[in-house]
Amino acid sequence: MRTTGPVIGRFLTELRDARIVGVRTADGRVLVPPLEYDPATGEDVTGEFAEVGPAGTVQSWAWVGAPRPEHPLSRPFAWALIRLDGADTALVHAVDAGDARAMRPGLRVRPRWRAERTGHITDIESFVPEVVKIVSPVRAEYRLRPGRALTRFLEGVARGVLLGCRCGSCGKVYVPYRLSCPECGVAITEERELPDTGTVTTFAINNLPDPRAPEVPFVSAYILLDGADVPLIALVGDVPAHEVRQGMRVRAVWAPRQEWAPAPLSMSNIKWFAPTGEPDAEL
Ligand SMILES: [Zn+2]
Repeated sequence: MRTTGPVIGRFLTELRDARIVGVRTADGRVLVPPLEYDPATGEDVTGEFAEVGPAGTVQSWAWVGAPRPEHPLSRPFAWALIRLDGADTALVHAVDAGDARAMRPGLRVRPRWRAERTGHITDIESFVPEVVKIVSPVRAEYRLRPGRALTRFLEGVARGVLLGCRCGSCGKVYVPYRLSCPECGVAITEERELPDTGTVTTFAINNLPDPRAPEVPFVSAYILLDGADVPLIALVGDVPAHEVRQGMRVRAVWAPRQEWAPAPLSMSNIKWFAPTGEPDAEL
């Protein structure tokens, strides 16, 4: 049995009452999930709690097409980084969106609470999209301000490293780097560099042009990096779209180093993943 400190303890107690609280840092930011210390400065947090959300905005996500028994939902869902209204950091939780195509950056979601709550992160069964009706065609452009965890990951990409992290409680390795374990709800402190090789788990062939893609049609895929427990979303290139398959071994194709841009932080240093030619991996 793991004991929780006063900050996490307060967070979990509030969950039991269907409230989500963050903790305020010395410089006034609100951390959700709360931490005992400010990861930006290493200072202790103030001990002042602020209720946030409960609705929030999806920043990024990974679609889980084939949930495993230990997952929170038995149907396909997304693990998402969700910034709750009033929070300055993002929480990782499941989004029950029904279909991967329903996921997009900026998607508004709200928690679906369990009827019986015990003071655990799973008191939130999942987040669900807020129902919105759009009556006129709109073109929305999102400029994402990456959260602290995603920033850390992108800083790694900026120097040619894929940064993941390992949960000290369950041992799962996540990439991109994140601040808390979506399965245990505990803060993650162990950083881990991952290789740039992996295996295609699922993929989609896209027929609409995308400025980042090599050509049309192109393939976007969930790639399980070697040593990671959750897949990363990336483009697959240097191969005809119809030849991409589950189990295909791939490696990141980095842009030439002289083209690397330190800012703004983005994934652009990696052009896409390309087949390595190794035999397919078993999934
Ligand atoms: Zn864990």
